Amino acid sequence: MHCGEFDKDLAVQKFQEYLKIKSVHPDPDYASAVTFLERYAKELRLDVKRIEVGANRREIIVMTIPGKDPSLPSILLNSHTDVVPVFLEHWKYDPWAAVKDDKRDIYGRGAQDMKCVGIQYLEAIRVLKVIRKESFQRTIHISFVPDEEINGGQLGMKLFLDTAEFKALNIGFALDEGLANPDNKYSVFYGERSPWWVRVKCHGNPGHGSRFISNTAAEKVQKVINSFLSFRSSEESRLNGDSCMFLGDVTSVNLTMLEGGVQPNVVPEEFIATFDIRIPPSVDLNAFEDKITSWCKEAGDDVTFEFLSKNKNQKTTSTKEDNPWWAAFAGVLQRRGVGIVKEIFPAATDGRFLREIGYPVIGFSPMRNTPILLHDNNEFLNEEIFLEGIEVYCELLPALANLKM
Ligand code: ZN
Repeated sequence: MHCGEFDKDLAVQKFQEYLKIKSVHPDPDYASAVTFLERYAKELRLDVKRIEVGANRREIIVMTIPGKDPSLPSILLNSHTDVVPVFLEHWKYDPWAAVKDDKRDIYGRGAQDMKCVGIQYLEAIRVLKVIRKESFQRTIHISFVPDEEINGGQLGMKLFLDTAEFKALNIGFALDEGLANPDNKYSVFYGERSPWWVRVKCHGNPGHGSRFISNTAAEKVQKVINSFLSFRSSEESRLNGDSCMFLGDVTSVNLTMLEGGVQPNVVPEEFIATFDIRIPPSVDLNAFEDKITSWCKEAGDDVTFEFLSKNKNQKTTSTKEDNPWWAAFAGVLQRRGVGIVKEIFPAATDGRFLREIGYPVIGFSPMRNTPILLHDNNEFLNEEIFLEGIEVYCELLPALANLKM
């Protein structure tokens, strides 16, 4: 079943309209996004709910198409409405003007991450529900959540999970964001790395800057940094030495903060090094923590560490044929003749919160032959690729929402 003819200009116009909304941190215009989405839902004759979460009363929009059998577990199509800041001087076009150039590349912050996907869901629904008058066995919910791009989604999706409205969704399977693939393939994500932020405090003898003080904090922090960064090098070589490996398959380590010192002629008694570590689901987390403990021990006495963030969720979604959701999802892409690359998401998305509480989730943004430009300057998506994504969802939604098991 194909999309057939649909109003492509209208779909692109909606995408551009959404890109023009400045839902950008640190002060996102969520009010305009909510107005835009509620108007959109009305246009598509979808039930729509606004759910407030958290102390700052952020709003989550949930649109719903009731299924013929509402007792069946539903399909959730999730996207986030917020985008990351821009460095204006590096953009060739105004990132809030949604300029389409002569190659039909549409520029804007959020063009890939992930306003494209939000519009593709809704335009596929326009084709299926409004134009073709189709209905589905299972209920479909389309959620638009704020604050994915700050505090690791803790203020958006994470808070939504605790609401009665979320529990009432009765989710069976969810789709969330993925990444573009520069080749003629689709990247799909079935899990994520666990982010660990580790702060290592090194204490030593203080003294005058002119002397050879023994057992200084600096010597200890040097050893700590060497241990973390030589592990970083070995993981980087492992990634670069094997063309079948992706970033999501190895542990990345970065020294992100270094604190300490009082004034130039004083040897301080403390240096603090902070590392951002991303650990794939295949790694034994307890063994990895032991490794950190031993690096700190080897650096000398009075070297301690604490976690600023320690995610222990290693749940993945099965991509085997015995998972009927996966089989339905992959079947559609196979019938369309596009290759699939299965990956672990290298960073974090809202999908991990859903996986953690047991839902199967696939991260998928249908962008093949497209450079990965999320959070980058000059983020764009080609019009043809954007429109193809609508066709993909036109096939995916019936396959998932009519799935028998
Ligand atoms: Zn995103």
